[in-house]
Amino acid sequence: MTYRNERGALECPACSSQKTKSMSRRRGQELYECLGCGALFGTLTDLAESYARVHGGWCQCPGRATESGMIESRYFDFSGSDGLGVLRRHGWYDPRCKGITQVG
Ligand SMILES: [Zn+2]
Ligand SMILES: [Zn+2]
Repeated sequence: MTYRNERGALECPACSSQKTKSMSRRRGQELYECLGCGALFGTLTDLAESYARVHGGWCQCPGRATESGMIESRYFDFSGSDGLGVLRRHGWYDPRCKGITQVG
C-alpha cells in the first residue's frame, strides 16, 4: 500500500522515513523504495506484477529458519487488483533471492 502521513507526505510503513525513491513511472501505479531501510511498498494496477519483485515462495537460503539475522530481510507491502478485487501482500523478504522470509 502507499502510505502518507497527516501532511500528505509519503512515508515508509516500516521505518517512517520520508526519503523514498519512485520505482515506477507508469500511470496509476505507485511503487516506492525506502532509502532508509530498503522497504518496497506501493499500489500497483496489477498485483501480479509484484511477484517480479517479491516471489510467491519462501526464501530457501541456508540459515533462514535456524539463525535469524543471517538473512537480510526487507519489508514489502503491495496492494493491487488481482482481477476480482484489491488484495494486499505484505511481509518481509530476502532481497538477494526475492523469497519471502516472513508474512504479515
Ligand atoms: Zn523504511
Ligand atoms: Zn533467500
